[in-house]
Amino acid sequence: MKYSGNIEKMRSNLADEVQYSLPIGDSLILMEKLIGKQISLHFLNQINCVSCGKKTNKSFGQGFCYNCFVNAPEASECVLHPDKCKAHLGISRNMEWSVNHCLTQHIVYLANSSNLKVGITRKSQVPTRWIDQGATEAMIIAETPNRHIAGTIEKFLMQYYSDKTSWQAMLKGNPKPVDLVGEKTKIRELLPNELKKYLIDCNDIAQINYPINKFPVKIKSETFDKTDRVEGELTGIKGQYLILDNSRVINIRKHRGYLVEISY
Ligand SMILES: [Zn+2]
Repeated sequence: MKYSGNIEKMRSNLADEVQYSLPIGDSLILMEKLIGKQISLHFLNQINCVSCGKKTNKSFGQGFCYNCFVNAPEASECVLHPDKCKAHLGISRNMEWSVNHCLTQHIVYLANSSNLKVGITRKSQVPTRWIDQGATEAMIIAETPNRHIAGTIEKFLMQYYSDKTSWQAMLKGNPKPVDLVGEKTKIRELLPNELKKYLIDCNDIAQINYPINKFPVKIKSETFDKTDRVEGELTGIKGQYLILDNSRVINIRKHRGYLVEISY
């Protein structure tokens, strides 16, 4: 089979094992079905901005042309720094976008990816966000009416918890389980009163298993900025990474908007 088109980040579905599909042009390829098989990804030397569609020689901020990176609301400062979101004050690159992306219910979560980390996302992005980060377990700790408050809670908790995943460690294996309920109890003690009111009582934990035959050992990261062909046996998928034989990995999300031909 052969497909070509601009690729987007993989979509996922939480089942016993995560089910992944890769959007390419107008098609959707079920990726976990290709594990154990030979696949070939061929970059056709064209990148189209994921926001405006125009050709761009270089991708900024995972898929944008420079103009959109600077102006598009989906590349706003508040995407990376939620506590700096000003949409609740009526200030944003595009208020219509912010109404749907910033002024909606958000959650603060603890996730175990390579390590225990704190993060935030829109409530509608659960469990997608956790899967994209390669977390093996995650729990919602707070729900807030907008992005700014979630970001403020996260910023406070960053004194005690990392907000980062080590992608190499995440890909090399699964982390030791963490007592997420115990951590939430600690957080209840730590948070100032004006933020404590957003904590939720529900302690449901999402357990996430990834389709992996073989973890990479000494990781070699492939990118279409250095080579136009990545091929071999697909041995697993975790986060937004395809894992290939000989410990090679490729971050699909980083290549949003790249024009690629895939065959298997
Ligand atoms: Zn653009």
